[in-house]
Amino acid sequence: MTLASAERTTAVLSGTALAKDIRARVSTTAAELPAAGTEPRLAVVVATDDESTAWYVRSIAKAAAGTGIRCDVVDLGASATPERIRGELGTLSEDPAVHGIVLQTPLPGAASLEDLATAITPEKDVDGANPVSLGRLSAGLPAFAPATAAAVAELLEHHEILLSGRRAVVVGRSNVVGRPAAQLLLRRDATVTVCHRYTRDLAAHTRQAEVLVVAVGKVGLIGAEHVSPGAVVIDVGTNPTEDGGLVGDVDADAVTGLAAGLTPVPGGVGPVTTALLLRHTVESAWRSTA
Ligand code: NAD
Repeated sequence: MTLASAERTTAVLSGTALAKDIRARVSTTAAELPAAGTEPRLAVVVATDDESTAWYVRSIAKAAAGTGIRCDVVDLGASATPERIRGELGTLSEDPAVHGIVLQTPLPGAASLEDLATAITPEKDVDGANPVSLGRLSAGLPAFAPATAAAVAELLEHHEILLSGRRAVVVGRSNVVGRPAAQLLLRRDATVTVCHRYTRDLAAHTRQAEVLVVAVGKVGLIGAEHVSPGAVVIDVGTNPTEDGGLVGDVDADAVTGLAAGLTPVPGGVGPVTTALLLRHTVESAWRSTA
């Protein structure tokens, strides 16, 4: 899609077909790995009794099983100390049978993901949580990007959205989404602006965007006044609704007919994120056989 071709119709930039395609390729690679001497294995470390986290971890385990990746959920309980979590991550990092390690948030007490994830060896850091991975990404070196940020870039590529020389605006600067997404757009030669909670006149910035990525976690943050005609909008936000559903950060009704393309929530970034976590795991497993 070219940005100039927008004629007041908004394409639905779905992630479901892309995710299915990624999972199919992961299955093929996973099936080849035993002949190369290993079986792909992902470990998901959990230290919370948060129900939505449990749901997300179950969906990762189910997707892993569907592609032939063994997924071990290591539940340390909501009262696990930072030392206990760090120790487990160290043990998994040294275990040659484990190829991918994810530390699930939220974490107990004041423990921070960035701090604890330094115990995940970068080779197995399939969700790009170790600050070394973000540093390498920023330096243009090979590294696993956080799966959600990678999903943003993958979706843009899949839907043939041009990035080179385009103005991209990312709203949100977390280490798991906004910041690495900005780095990935920069790698693809976009001119990138990052907005955050202290940005003054958000709409003045977002209206400059030819590609707008929104990763905040606020329902309705982005409305018609934030979007230029013909812009492509990637909505990373996932906000639970009262009826058990999910909505994004973008007011989809308001920007439909204005944007050239918009990712749906659910069915946009989410499924691609899980598929990429699995792709990173088989990539890591494959490298371990070299
Ligand atoms: P976060 O809370 O860590 O970061 C939110 C960011 O938004 C911060 O950088 C903050 O400065 C910025 N922000 C807050 N209020 C703002 C405002 N009014 N204007 C501009 N910026 C503002 O959140 P996160 O972990 O980065 O997640 C962001 C959203 O993405 C959440 O809804 C989360 O659920 C969702 N998410 C989705 C996936 C997926 O797979 N689809 C994965 C991870 C996160």
